[in-house]
Amino acid sequence: MNINFSQKTAVSAKELFRLAEFDNILKCVHCGLCLESCPTYRELDDEKDSPRGRLYLMRGLWEGALELRQSVVEPLSRCVNCRACESACPSGVPYGELLEKTRGIIFENTTQSFKERVLRRLLLKGLFRSTSLMITASYLLKIYATTGLPKLITKTFVGKLFPRSFVFQQHLLPNFSGKSFKLKYADEVISSEVSEKIKPYTGPSGKSKRLKSKPRVGMFSGCIMDVSEAAIHESTLTLLHHIGCEVVVPGNQVCCGAIHVHSGDRETARELALKNLVAFEPRHLDAIITNAAGCGAQLKEYNLLFSKETSEAKKGVRSTVNWQDFEKKIIDVLEFLSRYPKLLEKLSWREDEDTVLYDAPCHLIHAQKVDENPRQLLNNLPGVTLVPLKESDWCCGSGGIYNLVHPELSGAVLKRKTESIRQALTTNPNATNIITGNPGCLYQIRAGIRSENIDLHILHPVVYLAGRLKKNES
Ligand code: SF4
Ligand code: SF4
Repeated sequence: MNINFSQKTAVSAKELFRLAEFDNILKCVHCGLCLESCPTYRELDDEKDSPRGRLYLMRGLWEGALELRQSVVEPLSRCVNCRACESACPSGVPYGELLEKTRGIIFENTTQSFKERVLRRLLLKGLFRSTSLMITASYLLKIYATTGLPKLITKTFVGKLFPRSFVFQQHLLPNFSGKSFKLKYADEVISSEVSEKIKPYTGPSGKSKRLKSKPRVGMFSGCIMDVSEAAIHESTLTLLHHIGCEVVVPGNQVCCGAIHVHSGDRETARELALKNLVAFEPRHLDAIITNAAGCGAQLKEYNLLFSKETSEAKKGVRSTVNWQDFEKKIIDVLEFLSRYPKLLEKLSWREDEDTVLYDAPCHLIHAQKVDENPRQLLNNLPGVTLVPLKESDWCCGSGGIYNLVHPELSGAVLKRKTESIRQALTTNPNATNIITGNPGCLYQIRAGIRSENIDLHILHPVVYLAGRLKKNES
């Protein structure tokens, strides 16, 4: 996609980057060890579209050697933000943080095209910020799916009347429920022995309801996930319930803001971060569970949104909020479950044989550095054989809304993933499921296998785990 933008002021890039905390970019020694892990470099074979090339551009902006021009901004926009380069980098360059700050400065200081402004206003400032709009959209899209139109477009000649990207987007549609998970369970304590309504938090005295003997955890429900793929949240709840947790689902939680941060809209992301802090912190939780790798990575990095260049810092927010306490409670459900191997072992699992393929989401493996736990959990299931895909740790091209903004490049990255899947199926023809722990990856890979007519189901690990419980356990 060509970027159409104009800079709002005549201020130099050096001046715009003056307050950004950017010193870590100096850690890059230009060794190039990250290049071979970059999906866009592999597809485009251009240094500008590699991590090293992008860091060079960012450093040029920061030091004043470059200005915000199309040729500088475009390669930065083409980064899928998978952060595989961070895992490959021996110098510890925090690539994701630097990219997101740069995108923030670009977003705040340039005027996008009319179409892009409308889209951003509708999606970033509207839909992803409002639970009621999200429920309405989910409801309408659920009706749309029941009309059979998506199938008509993807399975018949009708699809030929539309652009390929539109046809692919039909495959991408999540299974919308038309209902909000968080509102269904809002402020209800759910445990294996206790299910009592508690009053919404009104002050420090609210902690009197806490049962000390069990871990009390909050569940983060996200934005699109809150109104779609209901099985993922319900299965998470089932598993947490089975290991004896009390689970609280705050009804006033909101989108994590990852999509906003990736797009450069850090102001809205900060607004969402503060709302989530208010939603979770007063509930006296031992942990905050996420089942979306992208959300988890964002929630764990809220402090980065409040660095000294932000207006919030000027207003003193940075000094009044202790993000560390919040961030250290954030944990992916798979990492959390793997802390309780003995409890899991005691559950009654099915023992029938099954072979499953596994793909590691980038924001779990590269951003959160959670790699072993999901594989161990699945491997420990009686009767289950886990087959990691070749290049399982490579991006699928989803990248939040990257697949909508850069459909062609995203499609090329996805193609590589579906080729790995085909290859794995050749040697494991009995595999019926592929498992991945991030909804964005799940939608993207599902769209890939559907559009290529690969006969495979795709599931979130918690859905698979809950499905392996014997009926009297689930
Ligand atoms: S985040 Fe991913 S796409 Fe972007 S430079 Fe790093 S490896 Fe390449
Ligand atoms: S980001 Fe790291 S791996 Fe890549 S060129 Fe710089 S120092 Fe080397």
